[in-house]
Amino acid sequence: MERYFDAASTTRISSKALEAILLAEESFFANPSSLHKEGYRAKEELERLRFNIAKLLCVDSNNLVFTSGATESIAAFFSSLLFNEPGEIVTTRIEHEALSSYLQVLSRFGWTIKYVKSKKGIVNPSDIYSSLSDKTKVVAVMSVNNVTGAIEPIKEIREAIDSFEDGKRRKIQFFSDSVQLLGKLDSTPLFSSVDYASFSAHKINGPRGIGLLYVKNPNSFHPLSSAGGQERGKRGGTENLAAIAGFEVALREWIEDNKKEKRAEEINKLLREGIASLGYSINSPSLASPYILSFSTDLPSEVYTRMLSDKGFYVSSGSACSNNAKGKSEAILEAMGVKHIDATHAVRISFDRNVKKEDASSLLKAMEEING
Ligand code: PLP
Repeated sequence: MERYFDAASTTRISSKALEAILLAEESFFANPSSLHKEGYRAKEELERLRFNIAKLLCVDSNNLVFTSGATESIAAFFSSLLFNEPGEIVTTRIEHEALSSYLQVLSRFGWTIKYVKSKKGIVNPSDIYSSLSDKTKVVAVMSVNNVTGAIEPIKEIREAIDSFEDGKRRKIQFFSDSVQLLGKLDSTPLFSSVDYASFSAHKINGPRGIGLLYVKNPNSFHPLSSAGGQERGKRGGTENLAAIAGFEVALREWIEDNKKEKRAEEINKLLREGIASLGYSINSPSLASPYILSFSTDLPSEVYTRMLSDKGFYVSSGSACSNNAKGKSEAILEAMGVKHIDATHAVRISFDRNVKKEDASSLLKAMEEING
């Protein structure tokens, strides 16, 4: 029985991904930048994996830069802005701290950060439109919120930006942190809408320490430093080939699993109904990823998650990172209109494609026991 319901924090690595990592580590040990036969082999394998990942995502492989994870992808884009004259960034108060903390850095360098409302966790594209000005250089809105699963209207936000820029030269860059969307929801509208997006392998049963930065126009992306010039000058450092091999397998497993969505939706429905019948309030909007569900009980988050943990069920109080930056997921919930007391009593259930209905039923049973 699966007792792990904290997949939005990280997931258990798939056995096939693990096999691919070991194989790549043994077979392609050389540095892909080395100018000898083993180096060429490693480089060839790296490009083969990049091509496969691009194909799975229906993008061009030139658009993909491997990084150590979403935090680095976000930092790579936002630090590259330091080459420009400061301007305005339009964003939300529900972004992951990997992004929101970078906005603080930019504001110290003279950038203005404008926040749009996110009522019930979902941004209104017309609010984005009315926040834009001639000084706006970036719009940053995540695709799927990691605390509630709220799905943001990325396509409509692009339309709002386009209609603002109508007749003018396109200059506003649209960045979307898309960690919680990868493999789980259709990424076609994302890639047709954004200029940049960040992804991570460990949320989809791939290894930790590998991620992607999607760059629509590679010629216009100039990282703060390209160090050793790897990744076509977009990210320095010896490529983590074995992790990339694991990432490719994990992504393929998610994308080729045609039944995952139906399964996740059924489990989400079961959980929503069960939680509502316990008298708890649900924080996730109805337009949310089926893999994430936030609700509030009458106990503080830490107490409730601990009680479930003692019963062998592992859930979270919000973002895993917010255990280090306390209060961040509470702030995200409050920014979407959840009352302070409910925000401090929030619990997040999140799962991957391996969870079964029976697992969700057992979790509900444990919650019923706690309820008395
Ligand atoms: N963005 C979102 C929405 C996330 O959920 C996470 C992970 O918690 C990150 C960014 C950071 O990802 P990584 O751990 O790959 O740096």
